[in-house]
Order: sequence, then C-alpha cells, then structure tokens
Amino acid sequence: GSTLEIKDLHVSVEGNEILKGVNLTIKGGEFHAIMGPNGTGKSTLASAIMGHPSYEVTKGSILLDGEEVLDMEVDERARAGLFLAMQYPSEISGVTTSDFLRSSINAIRGEGNEIPLMQFIKEMDEKLEALEIDKSMAQRYLNEGFSGGEKKRNEILQMSLLKPKIAILDEIDSGLDIDALKIVSDAINDMRSEEFGTLIITHYQRLLNYIKPDYVHVMMQGRVVKSGGPELAKRLEEEGYEWLKEELGIKD
Ligand code: ADP
Ligand code: MG
Ligand code: MG
Repeated sequence: GSTLEIKDLHVSVEGNEILKGVNLTIKGGEFHAIMGPNGTGKSTLASAIMGHPSYEVTKGSILLDGEEVLDMEVDERARAGLFLAMQYPSEISGVTTSDFLRSSINAIRGEGNEIPLMQFIKEMDEKLEALEIDKSMAQRYLNEGFSGGEKKRNEILQMSLLKPKIAILDEIDSGLDIDALKIVSDAINDMRSEEFGTLIITHYQRLLNYIKPDYVHVMMQGRVVKSGGPELAKRLEEEGYEWLKEELGIKD
C-alpha cells in the first residue's frame, strides 16, 4: 500500500496562518478520521493536500510514497493516486455525469491506456447499483439540480471508479439522511484493502458508527492535538470538546 505523510504543514489563507504545523501519516489499509470544532482548519487541510490555489503552504511537506505532492500540479496529484471529495462539489454545465466519470478515469490512466467503453459501462453500472443511484442520473449534467445527498453519492461513485490510493473525504456525511449515509458508508467500507487508505473529515461522530476508523485525530487551532482509537470519537460525542480543551490548556 501507499503512504501519505504530512509533516509540519503550515498553510495560510489571505495571509492568515490557518494550519500551524500538522503532522499525520496515512497508510494503505488504514482508515483515519479527523474531528474537531468548526473553523479549526479541517477543510483547509483537505484543500492544501489537493492543491487549491487559495491555500498557501508556507512550511512543511506532503509526501506520497516519498514524492513531494506540493511540487505536483493538481491533476498530477490525482494521477499519483490522491482523491478529494469536496465539501461543496460544483456544477459543470454541459457535461453528463457519465462523460465526466469516464474522462476523469482516462485522465488518470493516461493517453493510450483509456478504459474500454464497455468495461467502463459495466463498472459504472455495478457501482450505480451498489450506491442505489438511479441509472438515469449518469446521463444528467454533472451536479446540475442534484440534491446534496445525490452529490455525495456521486462523489463516492467517482471514488469507487477511480480507485485512488489515498482519499480525503471532507464532510461526506453532510446532507445525507440515515439511509443514504448507510449506503455511502457501505461503499466506502467496500473499498477497504491494503491498496486504499482514507482520511475522513467529519464534524459528527455518527458517521463513525458506520465507517469504523482505525485512528481518530482531533484538530484544534490548526494542529492535530490528540490522536487515539475509535473510543476517542465516542468520548467526544458524549462529552464534547471542553474536557480536551481543559486537558490541553486551550482557551478560545
Ligand atoms: P473547518 O473545516 O475545520 O471547519 P476551515 O478549514 O474551513 O475549518 O476554516 C479554518 C479557518 O480558515 C476559518 O477561520 C476560516 O474562516 C478560514 N478560511 C478557510 N478557507 C478560507 C478562505 N478561502 N478564505 C478566507 N478564510 C478561510
Ligand atoms: Mg466548516
Ligand atoms: Mg470544514
């Protein structure tokens, strides 16, 4: 499996330092969760890993199997095996979901190695069924008029077709009702293998009832301040963040 190593990562947005030295290592076969109060930098971490231009890395490094991700263009990051589900996926006019998925698979596979059309259709149909997505959705324009829940399912559809080495899933649970949450969680659980590692960013512990993380991290004030196992998420769900702030001497 692959290894994503985030080392002493500092990230600024519009001159304000948001991440103040994040350290985190995710390996193939591992499910990590990051929790933390609103505004502590969780999405900033996801954006920086994927190379969003508004997020300036001022210090530190992100290595994928020893290669510096920060030196790669955004599309190179995807080709190297990183996947990011955005908190607010955008609409792309005039492109059907099916076309978008096929071209994103081919962008990763590279010229001369395009996925055969019949194989693509077969794989897509299998995943549509697993995610209980109506087949007609694949022929609709990407994200146009999709509900929040449909967008999330679509992202997981994309991830399961792209088969990334490491996926960063930011608030994949937001906007999902319980049934959809179960379906999406099952699809993520189905990806469990030595070849796949994920960092699941969430606000709520409830997602972690369906996707069992091996490691749970808490981010506060731009740093990972505590790491543990699933029991850490349980405690946060039951008791909130106050005890941890006290333990760490953090004032807000
Ligand atoms: P979280 O995901 O933990 O809720 P974010 O990473 O979204 O937190 O935000 C962390 C901090 O960075 C917040 O204070 C937020 O206002 C700020 N921030 C994040 N992105 C931007 C941006 N694009 N422009 C300005 N400020 C931002
Ligand atoms: Mg937020
Ligand atoms: Mg966020």
